[in-house]
Amino acid sequence: MAVVDCVVVGAGAAGLACARALALRGQHVLVAEAAGAVGTGASSRNSGVIHAGLYYPAASLKARLCVEGRRLLYEYLAARGIAHRRTGKFIVAASPDEIPVLEQYLATGQASGVEGLQWFMPPAMARLEPAVHCILALYSPETGIFDTHGYLLALQADLEAAGGSVALHSAVVRVTRAGNEMEVWLAGADAPAVRARRVVNAAGLGAVALARSVEGLDPALVPTAYFARGRYYALGGPAPFTRLIYPVAGPAGLGIHVTLDLAGQVRFGPDVEWIDGVDYAFDDGARDAFVAAIRRYYPGLDPARLRPAHAGIRAKIAGPGEPAADFRIDGPGHHGIPGLVNLFAIESPGLTASLALGHLVADLVT
Ligand SMILES: Cc1cc2nc3c(=O)[nH]c(=O)nc-3n(C[C@H](O)[C@H](O)[C@H](O)COP(=O)(O)OP(=O)(O)OC[C@H]3O[C@@H](n4cnc5c(N)ncnc54)[C@H](O)[C@@H]3O)c2cc1C
Repeated sequence: MAVVDCVVVGAGAAGLACARALALRGQHVLVAEAAGAVGTGASSRNSGVIHAGLYYPAASLKARLCVEGRRLLYEYLAARGIAHRRTGKFIVAASPDEIPVLEQYLATGQASGVEGLQWFMPPAMARLEPAVHCILALYSPETGIFDTHGYLLALQADLEAAGGSVALHSAVVRVTRAGNEMEVWLAGADAPAVRARRVVNAAGLGAVALARSVEGLDPALVPTAYFARGRYYALGGPAPFTRLIYPVAGPAGLGIHVTLDLAGQVRFGPDVEWIDGVDYAFDDGARDAFVAAIRRYYPGLDPARLRPAHAGIRAKIAGPGEPAADFRIDGPGHHGIPGLVNLFAIESPGLTASLALGHLVADLVT
């Protein structure tokens, strides 16, 4: 059996950022990843947006880690030469009842320290984004896009340079206790594969199931997992926008928005579809709902230009109709198991927040 200081379960943005932070503090870290490559879960099935941090209550982990993580992320991307662009983003009110929501975003954003938020009236919008219809817009200059795959590979490279490693095709099925240490069991094995004093459960959509497999962890302290799929449509042909365009957020998601990739391709999404498990199937049944949602701010949409793109799944711990949950980082103070950290509900803005999340988790276990 291998012995390391720390096992991180899951090689998405959260797991790799935690593993990197721990390895940079001198820990010998092994990342166990079920899939055959890093970042095949939510970390590659998202909008690829660097969020400014204006949606979340100022005292929440989401707000704090998003603002801090965004600043760290821009510095990291620049230092490592990873492609990114501060595109800026407009959140648009399409009708008068949406203006108070924008006012709320301005207030929460300012309370969280989000820089540069400003109002745009329709004439100014017409000059900057002529395809967009709105009666008022809130502009966030710090929002951007980046090469998420390049970012994940850079985190992995930092981890490996600091002596850590990633084991692919290594699905963790349970964690048992051995004195002050934990033993990590992989699928199909009849003995534990690795022993460690610290285990970070960053298994994303599998985090709740994995927490339930930890010997001695009170099941009452583990939340219920909910899954909300989000689909994206790509827009064929030239981009009618140069910045990101968001409607006001809906329940359980940020609304069907415009995101751009670094090559200028436009995608619309994601919607919110509650499902029972991890299933990325994309049926075209939501096309009409997409067209209606998009036309509220982009009336010139030609539906024939929409092509199904991809789907991602949000790892939620609040179900339909319940208030959105904050990121939940359960350390030993919560469950009493020394060295164990469970990361739950690392949904948006988890990509943006990942470097800050990594530092927080490393503080918690070292
Ligand atoms: C539709 C959508 C849009 C989003 N848009 C944005 C955005 O624009 N900006 C932003 O900041 N955030 C966004 N997010 C959130 C962001 O994608 C996530 O917060 C982030 O990717 C979570 O990373 P993770 O490492 O926790 O999860 P994941 O990337 O899912 O990684 C978890 C990993 O754990 C592995 N795993 C699971 N179970 C086990 C096991 N038992 N053993 C071993 N390995 C296991 C999986 O294979 C996976 O690789 C979006 C999310 C979704 C779903």
